[in-house]
Amino acid sequence: MEKRTAGFLPFTRPAIEPEDIEAVAEVLRSGWITTGQKTLELEDGIRALTGCEHAVAVCSATAGMHLLLHALNIGPGDEVITPSMTWVSTVNLITLCGARPVFVDVDRDTLMVDAASIAAKISDRTRLIVPVHYAGAPLDLHAIRQVSAAHRVPMVEDSAHALGTEYGNEPVGRKGTGIFSLQAIKNVTSAEGGVVYTDDAALAERLRRLRFHGLAADAFTRESQGRAPDAEVIEPGFKYNLPDMNAALALGQLHRLRANNARRANLADHYLRRFASIDGIEPIAIPGYPLRHAWHLLVVRVTDNAAGVDRQQLMQKLKARNIGTGIHFKAAHLHRYYRESSGGSAENLPNTEWNSERIVSLPLFPHMTIKDVDRVVDAIAEILSGSNG
Ligand SMILES: *Cc1c(COP(=O)(O)O)cnc(C)c1O
Repeated sequence: MEKRTAGFLPFTRPAIEPEDIEAVAEVLRSGWITTGQKTLELEDGIRALTGCEHAVAVCSATAGMHLLLHALNIGPGDEVITPSMTWVSTVNLITLCGARPVFVDVDRDTLMVDAASIAAKISDRTRLIVPVHYAGAPLDLHAIRQVSAAHRVPMVEDSAHALGTEYGNEPVGRKGTGIFSLQAIKNVTSAEGGVVYTDDAALAERLRRLRFHGLAADAFTRESQGRAPDAEVIEPGFKYNLPDMNAALALGQLHRLRANNARRANLADHYLRRFASIDGIEPIAIPGYPLRHAWHLLVVRVTDNAAGVDRQQLMQKLKARNIGTGIHFKAAHLHRYYRESSGGSAENLPNTEWNSERIVSLPLFPHMTIKDVDRVVDAIAEILSGSNG
């Protein structure tokens, strides 16, 4: 059958152009391949795009989150409120710091936390709130900031999905503190990488120090165009700097982000229009407040259908048709360690659990075509109708 021999369609693919490959090659030829001018350019680019005051490039968003937890002094006895519908990196770090993740349920249809459910989980041990902008849509920041301010609990936004996202007309990153990820599947990628943004100058200075051994000066400073050889350790730090090789890969994508996200939006729009008439597929909802969506992921839920096919079976049947899918995310509290340990507080998460077993991420990336979307939707319609066992 034709559809079985069609080429493999992955669920995502980085939007790398020949000029990006040339930019990386140029770094390799330059003699300076680790943190340097390109990393500074990347930080400048993130500032220009989002309007954030300080951008600190690191080797992953996870590393950035680790620096933040360390800088905010999160440790034993502390509680950190975060959704379980997230990537496990944050939950692992909270646990490794000796603190306790307190999971808050998400909205059934946006898969994001809201102000009221966060407020309900605040105790006298709460030291931090880490909400997650999900799939490219923004959190309801205004309401969540009010909870954070009213309870004097700081907030770090997990903005791994939200480069190019706007809340109203405020780009995610312009205010507050958070992390962007440049990991391979993200809208802008440096293969692995991340950027911490913050409007707190003292925190930014500390993060710059902590990302490179706690030395008084970075490995590479704009002023000296090189490393200060006599720099001293001010406090013990980590080794989380981003190499120029990686920064160079991301720079072009950063400049093309608006166009690439618009392309993602066109493809998403076509998916949603077609899914409106298909039983057994429920796309996640777009929040009602004004926003600009980055369309990082196209997430749907597999619900009751004529074929009696569940999420796992749909993924297998799509794979047999050469169509890749993903899961973002299996709820953190349902991973073995968190199921078996009493390390987290995971009561009453019905929406998280309902979604965790039904969500699937479908192919969505800028180099895809509308025809590719039709191929995915046709395959799903056929599988769920039961007409092709
Ligand atoms: C990708 C991702 C991260 C971690 O990013 P890395 O750069 O891989 O460390 C954190 N949170 C969410 C929600 C993510 O999707």
